[in-house]
Amino acid sequence: MKDFTPQPPAQGCRNAPVLKERGQREVFCGLTGIIWLHRKMQDAFFLVVGSRTCAHLLQSAAGVMIFAEPRFGTAILEEKDLAGLACANEELDREVDRLLARRPDIRQLFLVGSCPSEVIKLDLHRAAERLTERHAPHVRVMNYSGSGIETTFTEGEDACLACMVPTLPATDERQLLLVGALPDVVEDQALGLLRDMGVSPVRCLPAHRAAEVPGVGSNTVVALTQPFLNETAQHLERRGARILPAPFPFGEEGTTAWLWAVAQEFGVDADTFARVTDAPRARARKAIAAAAETLRGKSIFFFPDSQLEIPLARFLTRECGMTAVEVGAPFINKQIVGPDLDLLAEGPVIAEGQDVDLQLDRCRAARPDLTVCGLGLANPLEAEGMATKWAIELVFTPVHFYEQAGDLAGLFARPLRRRALLTGLEG
Ligand code: SF4
Repeated sequence: MKDFTPQPPAQGCRNAPVLKERGQREVFCGLTGIIWLHRKMQDAFFLVVGSRTCAHLLQSAAGVMIFAEPRFGTAILEEKDLAGLACANEELDREVDRLLARRPDIRQLFLVGSCPSEVIKLDLHRAAERLTERHAPHVRVMNYSGSGIETTFTEGEDACLACMVPTLPATDERQLLLVGALPDVVEDQALGLLRDMGVSPVRCLPAHRAAEVPGVGSNTVVALTQPFLNETAQHLERRGARILPAPFPFGEEGTTAWLWAVAQEFGVDADTFARVTDAPRARARKAIAAAAETLRGKSIFFFPDSQLEIPLARFLTRECGMTAVEVGAPFINKQIVGPDLDLLAEGPVIAEGQDVDLQLDRCRAARPDLTVCGLGLANPLEAEGMATKWAIELVFTPVHFYEQAGDLAGLFARPLRRRALLTGLEG
């Protein structure tokens, strides 16, 4: 029988020693996730309980997306709240009452904690319970933390989805649950491929609307679409669901391996799988090959940021011919990224956590052709003549599955082409 399982290298990185670092970190906080989550959940509102700094972060991150009726806002904690002089809970309740009276379209309200709300120990979990009682059944109020203390920006989505899991209805139905906020066009492609293979029913978390939230139970098989959903995965397991181990659907090979894991679980035969995927696989390979001309033989260094680093290193080394020097990730959960580590050939330093100065020293010593890092590090490194890629772009851009595989490779090829042009001009 034909097998679509990717061929592993002689020695992968699952058991490679991990360089663990703790020190100063350069990352955005979890509030950033609101920027893509609010577009996905169309009847949700994200109310950040935070300071003016939090409001500014959201406004500048979402600067180009001004809606007449936005689906996020900030309840500003003033100095008197921080000093404990006013009852922040009463103010929060009033703020929520006003918001829900003005916006009857809101069916899910997320109270999003921040550094200031954590400093004054505002109990948003109790606030969410109190407000749910008050506004049920029309609105469900939930809470999670987007605080920047000890977190990285994609943990915002993880915390948001994790807080939804206990509220999902129970179901015994045998189903596939896709977990992770994908752009609609990408989600539709994935659902189309699964439908053509005969995998059914397939549900998504997050859903577009409160009325469409999936159930969960012991016959639920979860296919994660993002590698940063550690807490969500744990909550789903607690509800009886099973997480399907698979590489993440980046690139042709990753997408095929992810789909093949689902296909085997749901009894799809190899001929059907080939019939559905042959054409998109060929298109993806062709699109990747075009960008890989620029990437082949080039070295890459990942600072820990988006938590996509390990699957992307697997894609860039195996499908685009790059060499990974260091692959840093904020957290490494081998239950989730183990299949990608299996396919990543030994060689790169695998690092978990960050001590930014030490890592900068290693990066400067290695002089990689391309460095993937946060915005704060990119400018100084560019000034030192190094080509960089902003990690946050990888989360804002549609990059999953076959039809985006060429664009994903292109995201890494562009800075190298630009650097080559600039070097040519300087020369
Ligand atoms: Fe800054 Fe913390 Fe607010 Fe994030 S949550 S913007 S790190 S104060």
